[in-house]
Amino acid sequence: MKTIDSINFSQKKALIRVDFNVPLNEEFEVTDNTRIKAAIPTLKKILKDGGSIVLMSHLGRPKDGPADKYSLKHIIKEASNLLGTEIKFADDCISEKSFQQSSALKPGEVLLLENLRFHKEEEKGNEVFAQKLSKHGNIYVNDAFGTAHRAHASTAVMAQFFEPQNKCFGYVMAGEISSIDKVLNKSEKPFTAIIGGAKVSDKIMIIEQLMNKADNIIIGGGMAFTFVKAMGGKIGKSLCEDDRLETAKQLLDKAKAKGIAMHIPVDAVIADDFSNDANTKEVDITQIPEGWMGLDIGSNSIKQFGEVIKKSKTILWNGPMGVFEMSNFEKGTKQVAYDIAEATKGAAYSLIGGGDSVAAINKYNLADQVSYVSTGGGALLEYIEQGTLPGIKAIEN
Ligand code: AMP
Repeated sequence: MKTIDSINFSQKKALIRVDFNVPLNEEFEVTDNTRIKAAIPTLKKILKDGGSIVLMSHLGRPKDGPADKYSLKHIIKEASNLLGTEIKFADDCISEKSFQQSSALKPGEVLLLENLRFHKEEEKGNEVFAQKLSKHGNIYVNDAFGTAHRAHASTAVMAQFFEPQNKCFGYVMAGEISSIDKVLNKSEKPFTAIIGGAKVSDKIMIIEQLMNKADNIIIGGGMAFTFVKAMGGKIGKSLCEDDRLETAKQLLDKAKAKGIAMHIPVDAVIADDFSNDANTKEVDITQIPEGWMGLDIGSNSIKQFGEVIKKSKTILWNGPMGVFEMSNFEKGTKQVAYDIAEATKGAAYSLIGGGDSVAAINKYNLADQVSYVSTGGGALLEYIEQGTLPGIKAIEN
């Protein structure tokens, strides 16, 4: 893997695709700076070498060209503070003025380009636009794992305009790639994948891929009920994708044929309404009464899953075990998070990925007690499904 460590940036101008797509409040202040913070080591290494930097990113989903609320000017203050260096700003990413600004940069200086998505060519992966953008620097660095599954102009298409020795991954990308590689290709056994969340349909491909790698697959969250119904259980009005019952059955059969242990919850916390104030009780997951829905895994499932997790040497977690946003239905997700932290203390390697599992790990303050917390939700899932991503292929080719 070619990383920024293999290049001396002295007197070079690094054109870096970062992921500064951060949430802003109504006053346009950054409310979560995790993604900006993550990019800082890459920027510091390049500045320390004596290079200059042109930063490219998107922010939000502007539909019709420039819109003030999606301007990257709002994040300059936060990024400058975190970097400890002034960041200049170009108010359009391909204007003549922006090219004057980038060519005037001196070693140690940093320029941020305005939101790439103000030009529709970015998301279309337009080659002319990508080539134009590429003129801002002489070394291309991709450090935006969160968008590496998109074949956009700045995330993939642009790489072809740089010689192989002039393109590489930043530390965020390198960390993500080696973490997934460790889990998928160098896993110590037993390898347990914990998959939760709302929908089976979103996770079919990933479960199929994991069947080639994992020893245990734990299923939780809303998607478990499609499996339970497929096995003949009564699930009341729990979440269910009736058009996926056959798929669920096939996945169970396939796991059995391959000798993989599929762990489906045995009990559930059920509620008579989708509300934290609903009446609740704990029942056998195959016997949910009419009018009730399962919103968390039950205590026997928590115990069984915990035993599997704590014996594991490699763990991948994507998706919550229940509606953990509501305090009455967070127990399963919370305990899984704690069990993963305990297994990690006992020398397991644990990778947490996907928006909601990352939110859960943060909610329980366990981010520093697991091995790696991925910054990319969709990108991580697609990487597991496909074995690579457009943003990775573009640098490696
Ligand atoms: P996903 O985006 O597919 O990973 O799903 C995450 C969402 O699934 C979270 O917002 C959870 O609240 C929701 N979820 C988890 N378990 C259940 C359940 N049993 N019923 C309904 N929603 C659930």
